[in-house]
Amino acid sequence: MKFQPSVFRAEFPSLQSDSIYLDSASTSLKPQVMIDATNHYYTHNTATILRSKHSTALALTEQFEQARILTAKLINAEHSHEIIWTKGATESLNLIAQSHARYLLKEDDEIIISELEHHSNLIPWLQVAQQIGVKVIKWSIEEDGSLSTDRLLTLITDKTRIITVTQMSNVTGFKPDIAKISDIAHQHNAIIVVDGAQGIVHQAIDVKKYNIDFYVFSAHKLYGPTGLGVLYGKSDLLTKMDCGQGGGKMLKSASFTGFQPADLPYKFEAGTPNIAGALGFHATLKWLFALDTEAAEAYTNKLVNDCRAKLIEAIPQLKIISVADSSILTFALPHIHHDDISILLAEQNIAIRAGELCAQPLIKALGFPGVIRASFMPYNNIDDTNHLISGLQSAIDILK
Ligand code: PLP
Repeated sequence: MKFQPSVFRAEFPSLQSDSIYLDSASTSLKPQVMIDATNHYYTHNTATILRSKHSTALALTEQFEQARILTAKLINAEHSHEIIWTKGATESLNLIAQSHARYLLKEDDEIIISELEHHSNLIPWLQVAQQIGVKVIKWSIEEDGSLSTDRLLTLITDKTRIITVTQMSNVTGFKPDIAKISDIAHQHNAIIVVDGAQGIVHQAIDVKKYNIDFYVFSAHKLYGPTGLGVLYGKSDLLTKMDCGQGGGKMLKSASFTGFQPADLPYKFEAGTPNIAGALGFHATLKWLFALDTEAAEAYTNKLVNDCRAKLIEAIPQLKIISVADSSILTFALPHIHHDDISILLAEQNIAIRAGELCAQPLIKALGFPGVIRASFMPYNNIDDTNHLISGLQSAIDILK
């Protein structure tokens, strides 16, 4: 389907209000197809899956598994059983940390973590460090905010077991060279974990081509429902991992002396899963596969580049923090508190995000107490960017 901005925009019912939504990196707006699928499940078709054998349950189980198959296709996983449903990127990363790292690593093994990371890809590893004494090694950013693979090479030792990195920073929009980092990791017998929470929304990913060991993301940032996430792992790694939570349907047999875990993917999916979420995401993915995502992304990046240029001209004191050709525009205003801007924009019905953006170490390294982030999707338009510019100007006038 050819990308037509106004047609695309019309698919999002919440845009019929007069608020300007520039906070999509926090969560994206939802297309009507996703809302309809969720509504249909709760209105007409409610049943549990993978258990009951009545016809509705069987049909829903089939659709639930189709969502897994389409997710595998989205990231080009070899097998759909390598897709584990979680409640979000955060839970996926915690699962890798607790069921892979805590279970299989030893004291003094090393985990390299980039300084670009969201707290979700830092705290779970710090917890493992506290629990079993593995060492967390910081891969610092360069002065321009990028990550250098030369620097990475100076950090790797024969104790390095994991290198974990974001596909796209939620603060700067920087996209590390995942293919190169993956090569380096494997040359040194380490594995690579990629946090795709932001990246999957703006850049195609191929876990096979890039030889990615673990990849995570959340459906809600990719036009899907909240409460649904994905953990991709290579089969052999998932097979060796501890299953994490225990409960219904994650086992083959159970007695009072023990249990035998189920095969992949079910050994990680104890209890009733997020059925409505998976069905909503199934509808999202079918819709997304029909979209020319490259054209949509090019449109967004141009919109943001133009907005960036106009902002620099209109507000010369503004310090741009995000990279060019990105869907996010992050900046700071010297002597003006980010929360004041956020509140004054909110009063004009403009939604942005301000503060540390769940990345305290990165914000500190960048040298700001907090930042202001406007984040865009292909449903945004030039009216939105014009509102942002005039809204900022009037906020600055008030604060003067
Ligand atoms: N990683 C990055 C880069 C993010 O931007 C976010 C959310 O903003 C997360 C991880 C965590 O995602 P979630 O809160 O959906 O688990």
